[in-house]
Amino acid sequence: MKRKYFMQKATAVGLGLLIVFSVIACKTEHTTEEKKEAIKTNEPSVKPLVIATWNTPLAVETAAKVLEKGGSALDAVEAGCRIEEANEEGQSVGKGGLPDRDGNVTLDACIMDDKGNYGAVLCVKNIKHVISVARKVMEVTPHVMLVGEGAEQFAVSQGFERENLLTEASKKAWEEWKKKSEYKPIINIENHDTIGMLAIDNDGNISGACTTSGLAYKMAGRVGDSPIIGGGLFVDNEVGGAAATGLGEEVLKTVGSFLIVELMRQGKSPQEACEEAIARIVNKPNSDFKNFQVGYIAVNKKGETGAYSIHEWFSYNLYKNGENKNIKSDFILNRKK
Ligand code: ASP
Repeated sequence: MKRKYFMQKATAVGLGLLIVFSVIACKTEHTTEEKKEAIKTNEPSVKPLVIATWNTPLAVETAAKVLEKGGSALDAVEAGCRIEEANEEGQSVGKGGLPDRDGNVTLDACIMDDKGNYGAVLCVKNIKHVISVARKVMEVTPHVMLVGEGAEQFAVSQGFERENLLTEASKKAWEEWKKKSEYKPIINIENHDTIGMLAIDNDGNISGACTTSGLAYKMAGRVGDSPIIGGGLFVDNEVGGAAATGLGEEVLKTVGSFLIVELMRQGKSPQEACEEAIARIVNKPNSDFKNFQVGYIAVNKKGETGAYSIHEWFSYNLYKNGENKNIKSDFILNRKK
């Protein structure tokens, strides 16, 4: 009897263990499957990809070429932004940017890589390629931001050349403005070239960059959203990236680019996230949104993109499937009519 009891008990224990192991095995298999599925759905369906604020075809083409040759998203966004910084005709970025109200051109830029690293320079005079200086801050210093004189000195120590950034055309425009010296932020609703750029490379990694001369005729020392992490730019390689243009003060007050990336993390599409970020600005009590522009672009890890602005005429360039197109963004005043 004793033996029979022992056998019965042993069989029961054996069966129990078998069931437990099978459940664990099934669960493990299921988890692996789930993981595979998650990775699959997060893989960019379109790569490489570049998206940038405003009508910036050459900058986007330059970035796309870097990616098509197998370059990194980081190299691509830097190369793309340099195009606008060197373009003297563009009056809101780099050389030829409109000066502050004292006649000084001061530039802001920042860059973020796919590992969550960030570098920025703020209020820099006499150096054209501030996006490359921002990258140097990120890569060769223990800091994330350098400002003004210190940033300029650092740039020179890294081999960047000082040059006069005020072109004849921008000087003339400033002299014209000085006649009335009316201090009100001027937002170019239609023609603009402050550039925020996001790229996905062939490895599926995302980086972003942003460079500007800021608001025309701003107060000396004024810095907007463009070089501030989470304001003018934010990238999280697990989720996506976002960039802003327009009245930086309003972007900063809502931490716009960070907000968009976090909304995408919670499941919103890039388009929905951009719309929500614009709505946050517009729906503030006493918002003066009729008198300023803000525009956002975003991309998620799958390579889906979005853009939205307050006023009409915000546009962006998108390089996808080998094509580089300028696309007009939808805008919130379109729906408020
Ligand atoms: N966001 C920039 C700034 O506020 C300017 C712009 O994009 O127009 O400095």
